[in-house]
Amino acid sequence: PPAIRKISEKHDKVFVTGCLEPDTTKPRANAAFVVLARNKELDGVIQSIKSIERHFNRWYNYPYVFLNDGDFNQTFKDTVRNYTSGLVEFGKVGPDMWGYPDWIDPKVAKEGVNKQGDNAIMYGGMESYHFMCRFYSGFFYKHPLLAKYEWYWRLEPEIKYFCDITYDPFLKMIESNKTYGFTIAVKELRETVPNIFRYASAYKRLKGIKSQGLWEMFVEPQPEKGHEPPPDEIDPEGMDGEKYNMCHFWSNFEIARLDFFRSKEYEDFFQMMDRSGGFWMERWGDAPIHSLAAGALLAPRDIHYFRDFGYRHTTIQHCPANAPARQLPRQPWLEVTTLDERKRKEEDAYWEEYDAPKENGVGCRCR
Ligand code: GDP
Ligand code: MN
Repeated sequence: PPAIRKISEKHDKVFVTGCLEPDTTKPRANAAFVVLARNKELDGVIQSIKSIERHFNRWYNYPYVFLNDGDFNQTFKDTVRNYTSGLVEFGKVGPDMWGYPDWIDPKVAKEGVNKQGDNAIMYGGMESYHFMCRFYSGFFYKHPLLAKYEWYWRLEPEIKYFCDITYDPFLKMIESNKTYGFTIAVKELRETVPNIFRYASAYKRLKGIKSQGLWEMFVEPQPEKGHEPPPDEIDPEGMDGEKYNMCHFWSNFEIARLDFFRSKEYEDFFQMMDRSGGFWMERWGDAPIHSLAAGALLAPRDIHYFRDFGYRHTTIQHCPANAPARQLPRQPWLEVTTLDERKRKEEDAYWEEYDAPKENGVGCRCR
């Protein structure tokens, strides 16, 4: 999409090129990793921790906040503490941030969820998934354990970092006045968000918000003159005849300022989206919610594309091309790859080898 090109080529220089010895002399940012997880995901969580520790946090020792709607058991806590280099805190997500809000009839909401299950919408029939999406959309940044922090880096079970990150991305974001950072932008499954853009667009109109150039990243280009569809096929979702192109920052990775989410503008946005019922009657993900909020409230210069981070979550990965020199790709969105089961195993075997600890210093290990 053109706006990604704008972000990556015009406004957004990579913070660092080439390999560096990690500089750990500067003070740390006021930041933490945030991980929402369940006890049964321990293996996946440890995989992720091993990876981020090996490729970044063994030098920087940032703290972790683990959150769960249930209670973490002792095995979970002990194992996590065993693999982390920074301070670790475990917190519970209370019913004020999880589950059905008191303004909705849970029977109606539940019917909405079940219907999505019947229609085979991905995770649509899974109540807990809806709870999770709403939590990450409107609540995680209000959790008491995050109150003391200004920045977060989101981690999930079963992710992998491929390249050593030898600089502090928080400090770099602060230095260059960034608000939100991503590694992968992909298209959402349309059936999970049929009406999300109507509401986001209505919010923007209602509040008299003018695009600062990022909103366009999420708008389907208009058909060329003479190629317009017949009038009865026009279904403008948003105001001004705009349609959502389904693009969003993939939110299982995020490095961002918490005060963006804690702002009155974001809260108004969340409230309006939430009250529409879209977290129940549809299966809105926190990724398109964060992305559309950024589109309405931020400018391309506020966004950072971490195109130098090698990152994989389940079946999609982003890997900077042509390392070890870590030359930067000119068309970064082509870097996103989807992997089937066989390809994943191959890749895993490859990275296993590279993940073996090396004797001397750091390396840039992307192919
Ligand atoms: P996907 O990445 O969209 O396939 O969804 P995941 O299953 O990975 O869920 C996203 C994040 O939310 C992960 O960090 C999960 O561990 C977490 N998560 C999802 N559902 C629940 C839940 O019911 N309880 C808790 N505590 N965490 C959850
Ligand atoms: Mn996941």
